[in-house]
Amino acid sequence: MKGKWNIDADHLMSRIETLAGFSDAPKPAVTRVLYTEQDLAARTWIKALFDSSGMTVTEDALGNTFARLEGDDPEAPAVATGSHIDAIPHSGRYDGTVGVLGAIEAVRAIQAAGLRLRRAIEIVLFTAEEPTRYGIGCLGSRAMSGILTPDMIRALRDEDDGTVEDARLRCGFTGPLESVRLERGQYHGFIELHIEQGPRLETTGTMIGNVTAIAAPATLHVTVSGEGGHAGAVLMRERHDALVAGAELAQAVEAAARQSGASDTVATVGIFDIHPRAVNSIPDRVSLTVDVRDIDGQRRDDTADRIRAAATDIGARRGVSIEVSTLNTDPPATCGPVVRDAIAQAAAELGHSCTDLVSRAYHDTLFMAEICPVGMIFVPCRRGVSHRPDEYSSPGQIKAGVEVLASTLVKLASQ
Ligand SMILES: [Zn+2]
Repeated sequence: MKGKWNIDADHLMSRIETLAGFSDAPKPAVTRVLYTEQDLAARTWIKALFDSSGMTVTEDALGNTFARLEGDDPEAPAVATGSHIDAIPHSGRYDGTVGVLGAIEAVRAIQAAGLRLRRAIEIVLFTAEEPTRYGIGCLGSRAMSGILTPDMIRALRDEDDGTVEDARLRCGFTGPLESVRLERGQYHGFIELHIEQGPRLETTGTMIGNVTAIAAPATLHVTVSGEGGHAGAVLMRERHDALVAGAELAQAVEAAARQSGASDTVATVGIFDIHPRAVNSIPDRVSLTVDVRDIDGQRRDDTADRIRAAATDIGARRGVSIEVSTLNTDPPATCGPVVRDAIAQAAAELGHSCTDLVSRAYHDTLFMAEICPVGMIFVPCRRGVSHRPDEYSSPGQIKAGVEVLASTLVKLASQ
């Protein structure tokens, strides 16, 4: 059934280019940070596209934006799709945007085909999937899921000590934060179209990735406090070197992930700061971050527990104090069979090759999984590159993703 949908890939690519122009970095780089002038201008432009598609647009107190195409049964929960349009500094133009502009094109194609559907379709533009401004990813969807509470939002600060509260109110998002949370079962299903941000589809020559699960991080912050001193004067047997203890812990992090026995378990020390950082001074304090990810929450938490146990052991053995605090533990998500089956069927009917895969990066879908069954449609991106100005997916690849999205929406909205 190739060519079932009349997708205008050139028009979609030119929209992606227009959206990339709302940027604080010169082309081809894109920088679009939450609640900045460029973010607001991009939102205004997209809301006009929603309007001209005949969709009803609403916004919540954080600026999450919903465009709704009514179905025949106003009682039936809608089918939702969407993604984000914020972009980390000096990144590319496809991450997130393909899932928003692609959804608009999918809805246009469904309308052009004259289809009447039982359920409404909603396109969601999520506020700030990237953690750039407030240090927390998926701000909008996390709040929708209830995992991020209004009080937690009120406590968030940006680099200039500005609050979310001030920034959102200045942007005109004035409703109560308590109203952002969505009901469980609010949607029949949620599907996000996204570039893969990894090389697997390209290297296997596959057009569509059908995501089975989304890995989620636990982030630990570790402070090792030892004893400083003169690098010449303190003998080795008298030392409580914070750096060497921290280095041993970093090795324990690697070992803890390997011990899980599953290739989906990964753990990384991404930051390692040394104090006082002088050639002739024994480090008295180091701080490090540990990022542990898995698609299995229990196994991820077990890995984090092994890291905490190693910290206790290393601290006792080396006579240093090691404090481990948990910054966040997000629940991994398993995609819903009802959505995955619809994606697989859609790809098969359209003649697009399709493979199951795991998303190792997280997405708004991770938090939508708290509300309804979810799925993700991945399309290839060149050499797996993302978060860089040379991020690229071809018109043909994006078109295939939009076709599968359109078919999936129709299947789910007809249920
Ligand atoms: Zn993204």
